[in-house]
Amino acid sequence: MLRMKFAFLTDKGCVRENNEDHVGVFVPLDEGKHVESALLIVADGMGGHQGGEVASRLAVEVIQRTCAEESVLSYGESLGRAFVAANKAILQQAGECPSLLGMGSTATALLLSGQDAWFAHIGDSRLYRLRDDVLTQLSEDHSLVAEMVKAGLMTPEQAVRHPNRNIITRALGSDAEPIPQLTGQPIPVKAGDRFLLCSDGLHDLVSDAEMLAAISGSPPETACHALVELAKERGGKDNISVIVAEISET
Ligand code: CA
Repeated sequence: MLRMKFAFLTDKGCVRENNEDHVGVFVPLDEGKHVESALLIVADGMGGHQGGEVASRLAVEVIQRTCAEESVLSYGESLGRAFVAANKAILQQAGECPSLLGMGSTATALLLSGQDAWFAHIGDSRLYRLRDDVLTQLSEDHSLVAEMVKAGLMTPEQAVRHPNRNIITRALGSDAEPIPQLTGQPIPVKAGDRFLLCSDGLHDLVSDAEMLAAISGSPPETACHALVELAKERGGKDNISVIVAEISET
């Protein structure tokens, strides 16, 4: 049997006055100490005044609520429906309140259950998996620079330093029918795997190699603190959020 441990941290960083990121770590109430399933979400909001905070909070709440109401037999499809519901909720609230018009949110959600994982993702927050000392980004960035790299107009090295690297091309709340990245088939999970979810406030300032080093040798809580501190040492110009999950054998 597999069990999992988590930690998360969200920080407004060193420059911003608000934290427009929201994180959610949800585990079934009856699982006690030996957690075997969980839903992990990072959402990074955008939009003037309070809009970003409202949008990312709604994203986390609606995704969690929709998944909780769904059948456990169709996790992958549940996440897809949860993203549709979250998008609708953000658009509806923006339509009802002029000061929230234009708000939106990224969302990266990972559902772990036993030996399977599913994820859904939109925007430029990220999901990584660490397995056998290799860190792999499982989510694709829905950003202008990522599309230019895909089209062969820019190298990945140029994208990392590009001044417009924070412009995203897809988000919840930006479109009537947004297209998230969804896992059709479950991803197999095995003992020793670690998963990391983060907002761009982290991956913009901390390299993949540094993330690997932080999460491979430390418990999740230590890794979260180390990563957030590293981003803050480098200016922390954006809100910083991170969730780390560690899978082990019971
Ligand atoms: Ca951000």
